Amino acid sequence: MLGKILIANRGEIALRILRACRELGIKAVAVHSEADRDLKHVRLADESVCIGPASSKESYLNVPAIISAAEVTDSVAIHPGYGFLSENADFAEKVIQSGFIFIGPRPDTIRMMGDKVAAIAAMKKAGIPCIPGSDGPLGDDHETNIKIARRIGLPVIIKAAGGGGGRGMRVVHSEANLHSAINLTRGEAAAAFGNDMVYMEKFLENPRHIEFQVIADSHGNVVHLGERDCSTQRRHQKVIEEAPAPGIDESKRQAMGMRCVKACQEIGYLGAGTFEFLYQDGEFYFIEMNTRVQVEHPVTEMVTGFDIVKEQLRIAAGEKLSIRQEDVVLRGHAIECRLNAEDPKSFMPSPGLIEQFHMPGGPGIRVETHIYNGYKVPPYYDSMIGKLIAHGEDRASAIARMRTALAEMVIGGIRCNIPLLLDIINDAAFEAGGQNIHYLEQKLGLKH
Ligand code: ADP
Repeated sequence: MLGKILIANRGEIALRILRACRELGIKAVAVHSEADRDLKHVRLADESVCIGPASSKESYLNVPAIISAAEVTDSVAIHPGYGFLSENADFAEKVIQSGFIFIGPRPDTIRMMGDKVAAIAAMKKAGIPCIPGSDGPLGDDHETNIKIARRIGLPVIIKAAGGGGGRGMRVVHSEANLHSAINLTRGEAAAAFGNDMVYMEKFLENPRHIEFQVIADSHGNVVHLGERDCSTQRRHQKVIEEAPAPGIDESKRQAMGMRCVKACQEIGYLGAGTFEFLYQDGEFYFIEMNTRVQVEHPVTEMVTGFDIVKEQLRIAAGEKLSIRQEDVVLRGHAIECRLNAEDPKSFMPSPGLIEQFHMPGGPGIRVETHIYNGYKVPPYYDSMIGKLIAHGEDRASAIARMRTALAEMVIGGIRCNIPLLLDIINDAAFEAGGQNIHYLEQKLGLKH
């Protein structure tokens, strides 16, 4: 097993990784910004290193500072968590060149998946169903682009090859707008992602977002852990996730899951990963692959009883997968709510002092959060302050437990989105299940 690892992240995921280290007897080093000295995992870690000022750019994205911290603490491996440097191929490469193990896929895999055009091409080749599209980057010739749009059929969506976080996308409903939409998206992509490559896809009007979790070791073994439904979104950001996805039966799950397994084998995938699909009219369409642990991994853990983060650590140590595909059995249903320090109506971030914190509990309830009484949520980072996960024997029971837990939880001193989450959990449409990606914005009156 690994002797000591460095956790290159903050907040709830850093704490999650620390707990996995503890269980496996691995020493853990926390790195933190000047604004994050009071993070729970920093206090609990075996060692901690301050890597820079509050600004992420100078701390959690500061590659030389993180590598130095690994060096001075004699860490053998680096876990990047999600966000920050987790999908940065240059960082992964630098980690390996500096003599450490990167806990994640090989740098060339990360690089390929970070370029959505390359990722789609590779996935198509590996037998993964993709959305009808431009089959490569768009050029500047307007006539050619019009032809592509006609072949695909309007509406289409223009997407940045280097895009992420739900940014760099534009829907086009008429040919007259195509040219300007391509130019605008190209300009935005260049500014935001340093890459002006864009491509075109059929715009699916009413899809659900369904993703498959996979995990692969360095000996060629790959399993899938079933799917998650992450259709409850606002501004392309997930708010509530669940597993399994309502209405996906076992044969469909196995068919798509095994295709993902086969694709992983074909590209030599390593570690935990997620195939994201849009699902419409009974068909799956690949949109992208995330080459890291995801925020919503706990719902998969709850229904499979399998610890994804511990397995990431074992795989990085060169061990074989601890389970085979036939050992993966889904039990019951799990739902996750993301807890954000924000106004539940205006969505304005609400950092500040947590004056009161009461955790919910009871059967099937899991809380993943770094906050505590007296903790001050800094204004510099993502507003997610934790996750509440409810597991039950079926979907109705998971919802009932989530409702009770949300009502029981108290986060005082700052504003938090618990009222919004309760409103969704109590909504008959959510209870029915299988809503599409527009459900939440329509419910909020932001979309018709
Ligand atoms: P990002 O990497 O920025 O998250 P994705 O490609 O994963 O980008 O897309 C994010 C979200 O945008 C999807 O979950 C979906 O809501 C919407 N979206 C993306 N592509 C399409 C499409 N072809 N048709 C309809 N909606 C889409």
